[in-house]
Amino acid sequence: AALEAAKAGATPMMEQYIEIKSANPDSLLFYRMGDFYELFFDDAEKASRALGIVLTKRGKHQGDDIPMCGVPVHAADDYLQKLIGLGFRVAVCEQVEDPAEARKRGSKSVVKRDVVRLVTPGTITEDKLLAPSESSFLMALGRVKGNADQCLAMAWIEISTGIFRVAETTADRLAADIFRIDPREVVLPDTMFYDDELKPAFDLIGRIANPQPAALFDSASAPGRIARFYGVATPDSFGAFSRAELAAISGAIAYVEKTQKAERPPLAHPEREQSGSTLFIDPATRTNLELLRTLSGSREGSLFRAVDRTVTGGGARLLADRMMSPLTDPEAIARRLDSVSWFQRETRTADALRQCLKGVADMPRALSRLALNRGGPRDLGALRAGFDAARAAAELFEAAELPKELDAALAAIKALPAVFADHLYNALADELPLLKRDGGFLREGYDAELDEMRALRDQSRRVIAAMERDLIEETGIRSLKIRHNNVLGYYIEVTANHQAIMNGSDEAKSRFIHRQTMASAMRFTTTELAGIETKIANAADRALAIELKAFEALSLEAVEHVETIRAGADALAVLDVSSALAVVAINEAWSRPQVDAGLAFDIEGGRHPVVEQALRREAGAPFVANDCDLSPGEGSRTGAIWLLTGPNMGGKSTFLRQNALIAILAQMGSFVPAKRAHIGVVDRLFSRVGASDDLARGRSTFMVEMVETAAILNQATERSLVILDEIGRGTATFDGLSIAWAAVEYLHEKNRCRAVFATHFHELTALAGKLERLHNVTMRVKEWEGDVVFLHEVGKGAADRSYGVQVARLAGLPDAVVQRAKAVLHQLEEGETSGKANRLVDDLPLFSAAVRREEPKPVANDALAKSLSTLVPDEMTPREALEALYRLKELA
Ligand code: ADP
Repeated sequence: AALEAAKAGATPMMEQYIEIKSANPDSLLFYRMGDFYELFFDDAEKASRALGIVLTKRGKHQGDDIPMCGVPVHAADDYLQKLIGLGFRVAVCEQVEDPAEARKRGSKSVVKRDVVRLVTPGTITEDKLLAPSESSFLMALGRVKGNADQCLAMAWIEISTGIFRVAETTADRLAADIFRIDPREVVLPDTMFYDDELKPAFDLIGRIANPQPAALFDSASAPGRIARFYGVATPDSFGAFSRAELAAISGAIAYVEKTQKAERPPLAHPEREQSGSTLFIDPATRTNLELLRTLSGSREGSLFRAVDRTVTGGGARLLADRMMSPLTDPEAIARRLDSVSWFQRETRTADALRQCLKGVADMPRALSRLALNRGGPRDLGALRAGFDAARAAAELFEAAELPKELDAALAAIKALPAVFADHLYNALADELPLLKRDGGFLREGYDAELDEMRALRDQSRRVIAAMERDLIEETGIRSLKIRHNNVLGYYIEVTANHQAIMNGSDEAKSRFIHRQTMASAMRFTTTELAGIETKIANAADRALAIELKAFEALSLEAVEHVETIRAGADALAVLDVSSALAVVAINEAWSRPQVDAGLAFDIEGGRHPVVEQALRREAGAPFVANDCDLSPGEGSRTGAIWLLTGPNMGGKSTFLRQNALIAILAQMGSFVPAKRAHIGVVDRLFSRVGASDDLARGRSTFMVEMVETAAILNQATERSLVILDEIGRGTATFDGLSIAWAAVEYLHEKNRCRAVFATHFHELTALAGKLERLHNVTMRVKEWEGDVVFLHEVGKGAADRSYGVQVARLAGLPDAVVQRAKAVLHQLEEGETSGKANRLVDDLPLFSAAVRREEPKPVANDALAKSLSTLVPDEMTPREALEALYRLKELA
């Protein structure tokens, strides 16, 4: 009824628009009108604001102007990209019949239109809309409720490459798993979206969550849906899936069907990921460690940037994938490391391989576009280039003794469909047009009829040139021309003063058929010219038809080989990643870590890869390498905790992070920035570093810190690695100290994990006497003429003071403030020894320094020193002080 009301009084076209729009309420509707996509009403207002394009109006609806804006079809990708980036979804509505059909139904009849596709962040396939080195996953969540608890699963797919994976998860892990996979969009049953228990996870992921009708995720109807999608009788042959997994898979497929309409992307069969096979990294840790992006969201400055030396989009995506999901099985890790070691030894092969790979275009993405009928000649070209590179790469490994992973990759490359590759080599021209309807992408000699048509077309052009010469001779009009335009086709043109020759006699009149009179010219045609015209047009049409048919056939052939091509492309990505990791290992002097099932964490000469590279680039300064040994001591089966003290700017955070990053690198199968590293596989990695404020969500810094700390204390196991930076800073000193104190004890006694704990509370160092596996270490500094020099060196022992005032001075605090602070500090320290100071103050990190006073600076001459020593500033009036200052100045 509401729909009918909305349509009341609308033009037929608006009626159609309103109907289609009402079926797609949460998307912007791109309504096709000739060469434009037009948007109306609210959509127009939203889009014009978001895209910065002009808002106009088109007609009236129920008495009001209809707001309208439009984007040209040829530039639509750019606008789509922007809208998707801003979080919109777009429904693309095309004309689905020939306008002639509509005219047949009556003059008022509107061309049929329909939404052919929903463009959403997780379902993009256009090259322009995809970053080559970034995956673009769509995730679907499934849930099955039992009596007491629930089973959760997630399926994630990439339409542009066909990846399809599924795994079980739990309410606790859900957010961490989503962050690990880093999808662009998460679809989930609406019932789940509003579930209190899961709400925190969805709050965390924000607007990428997209609730959908729960029926799409129904586990009972899932097998049927899956079977229909893949055209098989039952999905059982894909493996055994739990009901929650089936629900998630079903949700993913249902959403693909909903967004892609008639087209079917070539998704691989869902592949199950073993639970616990990847290193658990909680969302806060992942964000803080800046793996793929920095806290500010840029790729520059991330771990990925520091490590990535891949040369293909597929390689970069695989590298990111591995970095986001490091392994926990030492054998699997060793297999990857073996590949890197091999390339590290065989540098010549590595170099040659990387030259080959540079030519590889994105095969999986090209393949998906072809399967979705959105492909062009260049997508076939991408496959050809891929096959080419693959052949050349395979030759490089002839007779080589390869480690397992590379051997498997080589086999997959050799299995690429050679016959199809030959078809492509034979069929495709060297230079390819973007659009298939432009034609000209088939090679000469591939299709005899096509060559004939092309010859006819070219020949006819020569015939026309000859005809022009003949006509000039026949008529004696030297300025006669045969021209062409889109309206008339070919025509003869003479200036108006020659008119008589062309239609003066009956004979001439019947020979030259008048077409058009212009101000100064007349246009004619002849039967021969019209004949050639038709011939040329037919030849061109026929040529294009032949090309399109060949395109169809080649696309189909590509899709038939989708499995092998995808496997081959994956294998090329493996080669790219392994050789790229060897390159970074060689250039950056990284070493192969020893990863086993023990509990060691022994890093000798470890470095922070990002800081090290930045220092080299910007300051040319060397990075100071540091050891970290948390391995169980003699006779112990439990790892150690390092308690790290030292001044601000001393390098504490850098040290903490570098050890976490080394663990991640080692377990993703990369060499590590250290002289030597021995790591007993870490099951969970936790960090509480930096103050990632969450004020937007109404939590104070302190609250965030406590929530994160709670997560760590509740979840860390003996196998875990925990990195804690300054717990308890955001509250009153005694509170903070007590919390930090208790947290250290708990980690030591209950979690028994390996940990580095950086703190400002020097009081904590006393714990080393009580807790046997707790060791005090400190960032070394040197004092020099009252300033501090940071050595960035981790040494045994505890810091004796904070150097807060010196650091403040380095930061450019006004000199007067620095001087005053020094004086206050001095007094406080005095007070401490005489017991008069307020007890609270002495715990303030800035003032908690031990009582060792600064050495007075050497003074220039004795007279000056003497005079100075007689001054008692506290007892001087300002005037006396000033006079004293003048006296001193004279002495100096
Ligand atoms: P803190 O956490 O103690 O305040 P940071 O870890 O933030 O100190 O380090 C401060 C700066 O010192 C860094 O930006 C970096 O430039 C430099 N730095 C840290 N560690 C090292 C190191 N090992 N070698 C060289 N420079 C370092």
